[in-house]
Amino acid sequence: MAGWSIGKHRLEVTVDVRAPFLTILLDEEKMHEQLIPTHLLGDYPLVVGKREVLLKRVRNLDVAQSEVWIDGVKVPPSADPIPRHKPPMDGECEVHPGGTGGYRELGALPVAKLACGVCRVGLCNTCVAVDGVRCASCFEQATTEMVREEREWRTHGPLIGVALGALVFIFGLVFEIPRMAGIGLAAIVLVGINVGIRYVKERREAKNQPSP
Ligand SMILES: [Zn+2]
Ligand SMILES: [Zn+2]
Repeated sequence: MAGWSIGKHRLEVTVDVRAPFLTILLDEEKMHEQLIPTHLLGDYPLVVGKREVLLKRVRNLDVAQSEVWIDGVKVPPSADPIPRHKPPMDGECEVHPGGTGGYRELGALPVAKLACGVCRVGLCNTCVAVDGVRCASCFEQATTEMVREEREWRTHGPLIGVALGALVFIFGLVFEIPRMAGIGLAAIVLVGINVGIRYVKERREAKNQPSP
């Protein structure tokens, strides 16, 4: 399951590889049933509260993954719902450009309309991130985390394959079973070829799709 907090709403996408369609929950209620095929890549516009959201099904090597985009920005998912906090009474936007510390006139900064759901800093409507719930820096941090996890996902699978192949190869050498060593080597080569093919496929798909 992957989940995103958008404004005061929660969007969750569950993928069951045996089911023909994705399960999409908006605030725990099913939406767009039978709309998005489990194994088809593509862009699907959804409406979440007042926002237009693009649910993208993309390939990450051999696995289809869900991404959520708002206004051309990829929104990092969150494991738990991000609460929408009220700002302090009569608080000003605490991250507004040109408004940090020092002297300033009362009322020179816009009023905070909400507080960041993660770090609780007061935010005006222009300083909240596209997801409508986080400040720019918490959004940025979550994006960095998301990129790191995507990269790990891409390397872990092949690495496990290579490690197993190496294990079989060494086992074959130690016990002088040439056939086993051969199988281990073949496994390593196969993983390599597989990664190569998937990489080329992915590149070709990326080229065919105009980047948002
Ligand atoms: Zn602001
Ligand atoms: Zn924050």
